[in-house]
Amino acid sequence: MISDSEFIEAELSRCNKCGYCMQSCPVYRVVRREPSVARGRIRTLRAVMDGDSDLSRPMIEPFFECLLCGACTVDCLGSVQTKELMVRARQAYHAQYGQPAIQRYIFRKLLPNPGRLTPLVRLTSLGKRTGLSSVARRLGLLRWLSPTLDVAEGLVATMPGAFLRDRLPRLGFTSPKNTDVKLLRLEPEQATGPKVLYFIGCGTNFQLPQTGEAGIKLLQKAGCQVTVAPNNCCGLPPWSYGDTEAARQLARQNLDLMTSLDFDLLVTECGSCSGFLKHYAELLPEDQRAKALTERTRDITELLAELSLPKPMSKGTTVTYHDPCHLGREQEVTEQPRKLLVDVGGFELIELTESNWCCGGAGSYNISHPEMSQQVLARKLDHIAETGAEIVATACPACIIQIGYGARERGWQRPVRHVVELLAERHGLSVDDHR
Ligand code: SF4
Ligand code: SF4
Repeated sequence: MISDSEFIEAELSRCNKCGYCMQSCPVYRVVRREPSVARGRIRTLRAVMDGDSDLSRPMIEPFFECLLCGACTVDCLGSVQTKELMVRARQAYHAQYGQPAIQRYIFRKLLPNPGRLTPLVRLTSLGKRTGLSSVARRLGLLRWLSPTLDVAEGLVATMPGAFLRDRLPRLGFTSPKNTDVKLLRLEPEQATGPKVLYFIGCGTNFQLPQTGEAGIKLLQKAGCQVTVAPNNCCGLPPWSYGDTEAARQLARQNLDLMTSLDFDLLVTECGSCSGFLKHYAELLPEDQRAKALTERTRDITELLAELSLPKPMSKGTTVTYHDPCHLGREQEVTEQPRKLLVDVGGFELIELTESNWCCGGAGSYNISHPEMSQQVLARKLDHIAETGAEIVATACPACIIQIGYGARERGWQRPVRHVVELLAERHGLSVDDHR
């Protein structure tokens, strides 16, 4: 296994300073500053490695400003992995200066512990639905508590009263004795497809449960036997912030919870979760279970495109599709969602210019860097408007929240929805859309 410093040296040495990365970096296209493009970030990291610069926050702010979208690597002849470099630089910064206490608490105490996390999110949801949080925001209380809270409150229009895990009994899930695993039982003759272990991501569970419900129902319709995984967060948020140890811990916990279960494929409708689950083998190279899990992981659009779902019951309606970075660029899953929209949904697809450019959501980037995030989003929204499509489809909750926020800000009537929600609707599968 190569060490962090060997990895960094190897990547830095491959940058020939050509500048090809300038054309596709969403951040650089907004700020037009050399330190904010891959070449500039690499130059700064080189200076830090050589001892010519320190790791102080102003110096390395461009490292934290990176969306980790990976677009620069695609355009780079040497395929320099700037995204990975930025994560390691963030990790080194925290090692030297310490991690913010709230971040450490969230990543190490809340995310691995649904018993603590869920009641807190429930309280937040209640505040949002009763309007209390909006009042607090208007009075400036949230900004006073934390600018982050203030921004987060404004990103979503509302929050669901019942999370996806709350809905499972109504969907027919029952718990076998002596286990937390919830099994959805199907008539044997219906379950002709693979045994699917369904991974519920945090965004789907807490913010977009109707998306998860639609995904589960579509899998059932395609003949899969669905078991819901008793999983925790996949680990992507701490990894993105440079807390690799917290990410590893979450990954180990998920492996402990899932690998002994009987299933063929691990499936999720969150493009970010599926991308990170496929990254487990790299994250935990010493753990054989990680490689096995990675090989059995599929994004739901990947799997549904392989299974035989019926032709659409109705046709028409124009849709455009935004490629989430973690699904399109990282997993190269681009054809399948489009095929599903057209062949299974019966939609007329209008291609989006720069469909694979980051929308600026990037996990919680829209909270940590709200101004930059909105400028990146504006470019995406302009292109969506150019299509004239009636619906925006995508395949990651973070993108739905981000583009949905932009759509509301622009006063659009155009809904922003997950591919599986649109397909479920077209096939008459009723989903509780009470948000
Ligand atoms: S495209 Fe690659 S090699 Fe060229 S400047 Fe950017 S990171 Fe360096
Ligand atoms: S990962 Fe994305 S935001 Fe970061 S330098 Fe590369 S293109 Fe720019």
